Amino acid sequence: MASMAHLQEEKLRLQEELLGLQEKLAARENNELSRSLQLQGQVETLKAKLLEQAQEISRLRSELQGGTDVEKHRDLLAAENERLRQEMKACEGELRELRQQQQAPCRDCVHLQENAGLQERLSQLQREAEETRAKLAELDLEVQQKTNRLAEVELRLKDSLAERAEEEERLSRRLRDSQETIASLKSQPQQIKYIIKTVEVESAKAKQALCESQSRNQYLQEQVGMQRQVLKEMEQQLQSSQKTAAQLRAQIMMYEAELERAHGQMLEEMQAMEEEKNHAIEEAFSRAQVEMKAVHENLAGVRTNLLTLQPALRTLTHDYNSLKRQVRDFPLLLQETLRSARAEIGQAIEEVHSTNRELLRKYRRELQLRKKCHNELVRLKGNIRVFGRVRPITKEDGEGPEATNAVTFDADDDAVLHLLHKGKQVSFELDKVFPPQASQEEVFQEVQALVTSCIDGYNVCIFAYGQTGAGKTYTMEGTAANPGINQRALQLLFSEVRSKAADWDYAISVSAAEIYNEALRDLLGKEPQEKLEIKLCPDGSGQLYVPGLTEFRVQSVEDINKVFEFGYVNRATECTNLNEHSSRSHALLIITVRGLDRSTGLRTTGKLNLVDLAGSERVGRSGAEGSRLREAQHINKSLSALGDVIYALRSRQGHVPFRNSKLTYLLQDSLSGDSKTLMMVQVSPAEKNTSETLCSLKFAERVRSVELGPVSRKAELVSWPSQEHLEGDSPGTAASPGRGHTSSSPGQLSGRSASIRRKLQTSGKLRPVPV
Ligand code: ADP
Ligand code: MG
Repeated sequence: MASMAHLQEEKLRLQEELLGLQEKLAARENNELSRSLQLQGQVETLKAKLLEQAQEISRLRSELQGGTDVEKHRDLLAAENERLRQEMKACEGELRELRQQQQAPCRDCVHLQENAGLQERLSQLQREAEETRAKLAELDLEVQQKTNRLAEVELRLKDSLAERAEEEERLSRRLRDSQETIASLKSQPQQIKYIIKTVEVESAKAKQALCESQSRNQYLQEQVGMQRQVLKEMEQQLQSSQKTAAQLRAQIMMYEAELERAHGQMLEEMQAMEEEKNHAIEEAFSRAQVEMKAVHENLAGVRTNLLTLQPALRTLTHDYNSLKRQVRDFPLLLQETLRSARAEIGQAIEEVHSTNRELLRKYRRELQLRKKCHNELVRLKGNIRVFGRVRPITKEDGEGPEATNAVTFDADDDAVLHLLHKGKQVSFELDKVFPPQASQEEVFQEVQALVTSCIDGYNVCIFAYGQTGAGKTYTMEGTAANPGINQRALQLLFSEVRSKAADWDYAISVSAAEIYNEALRDLLGKEPQEKLEIKLCPDGSGQLYVPGLTEFRVQSVEDINKVFEFGYVNRATECTNLNEHSSRSHALLIITVRGLDRSTGLRTTGKLNLVDLAGSERVGRSGAEGSRLREAQHINKSLSALGDVIYALRSRQGHVPFRNSKLTYLLQDSLSGDSKTLMMVQVSPAEKNTSETLCSLKFAERVRSVELGPVSRKAELVSWPSQEHLEGDSPGTAASPGRGHTSSSPGQLSGRSASIRRKLQTSGKLRPVPV
């Protein structure tokens, strides 16, 4: 009983224990249930999340679809590009054709330039299209890369989705398993302990799996966020590429429009060129037609000509045959004709000869007649003429009453001048009077007739007479800038000789001499100090000559200048003061003109003597001594002798006292016969020179008065008043020195003179010729 009671108690305890266990189980069951409910809720949220992700993926997919839109757009662009390329190719083809068409007919067409411009534009457009193409290719590449990346993302998403599905599957399987285990536990209470343990273990595992899946979920969410970021970037890139594509499209459109325009222009030009070509062809055709017509007409003419020529040809053949016969007989005929022609020519030559002889005789007679007429004219005009030249007042005349002007002129008569001397006006009449303002040219114009008569074989003398400083050297030599009679005469002779060169050969030569103290010196000689003699020609012609007097042949102004310089140097070498010396010596330039008439063989010789006389001023007998007195005596003697000779000549006296002085003796040939003489009386207008001026003008008037009537005058002027005689009038005032030649020592200049002489001789143009 006890045991029973014990068993009973045991049974009750066990029952209580079971009850407790049952309660515990129920509580655990409740726990498990709530936990499973919790898990189910978690699974539900996971499912919802999965759904969300699936939606996200589908959205991403749709977005990816959008990516393919870019591809589509790219494809479209590529297609458009292709179309443009083809169009361009077509255009290029057209262009090539056009060029081929243009090249031949329109090489230098005006459109070529425009065409070149268009072609250049086209090539530019092509270049731009090329660039656009390159850009498109770049975009293509970019889109390709983006597509690849999208595919990768999709792949990754797919992978993660599969993983999730698997995880879900695994979790739901485990849930089912746990539920089954719980159910079985319920049915088998004895296994509860074990099961509870298993459940505890499994629920821990489930918790860990849940944690894992949560962290996984976290990672996936991060991934999704990153993908979204990438997608956003891609969207931006897509937008920018769309923008670029739009720009490119606009550019392409612009190019298209440009191409269209160029194409239109080209078409227009082609049209115009076509029209031009057609026009040209039409013109050429019409011209060709006209030419053809003309050719046809010509042909017809030629045909008819041929027809008419045939009989002519026949007659020509006939003629030719007869000519052949004639040629055969020609030599005989020729000989005969030649014989008769020779006879005829001989006769004609004889006739011409006789006519020529007659003409020559007439010509010579004419020449002589002309000379006679000329002589008569000269005789009527008077072959001794006296001119007066008044120099201007110069600085050398000084200032004050002594330098006032004492000479006046007659406004109506250029041969008259008036001199105011000692309060009285004395008038003089000469052949011509040159006032101070008369130029060298004007003076020469009055002289040039005399100069040219030299060419005809006349001898001429021109003397410059007057007191020192009155302008003798100025009139004869002049200055380099304004040359006097000497140089102008030679120039005139050169030009005259040139103008007669067709019929005459002329040679002009010059000599220069000086007479000082009655001694004659050669200014162009090697020994200028040597005294020369005047001699009679040994041929018995009565002509005079100066043995040893140098004569240079001159052909140009340069030659003259050399001769003048040489003469000047020689003259200066021989004296200490050239100014003084030149005023006390006579300087002579003797120009000889020899001519030969080539047709008649007639020879002429004319001499032009240009003499710058020594100063005519009177030297007071008391004031002069020694050499100065000797000089004065020589000058007086020679000037008086000149006056005597002129007087004798004009009054046609039987004896002319040429030998009374070296000057007149030397000039004998040129003063006698039909020679011509001009006396240029130089006077100074200054008040202080009036007494010398008076003497000079008196001399001039006397020379001239001879002409008025030799017989009556002869009675009046029994003898020529000598210079000595004139001295008694009044003592002369010292005249100012003439030209400003500086004196040089003889030694210095002799070397220079020799070198100039050498130059003259070696120039080839000049050669010394004996007189
Ligand atoms: P002469 O030879 O008579 O001694 P010049 O010819 O040496 O005199 O002249 C003396 C000065 O007067 C020179 O300075 C010269 O230049 C000047 N003379 C002379 N005549 C004229 C003129 N007609 N016009 C200008 N100056 C002159
Ligand atoms: Mg002088």
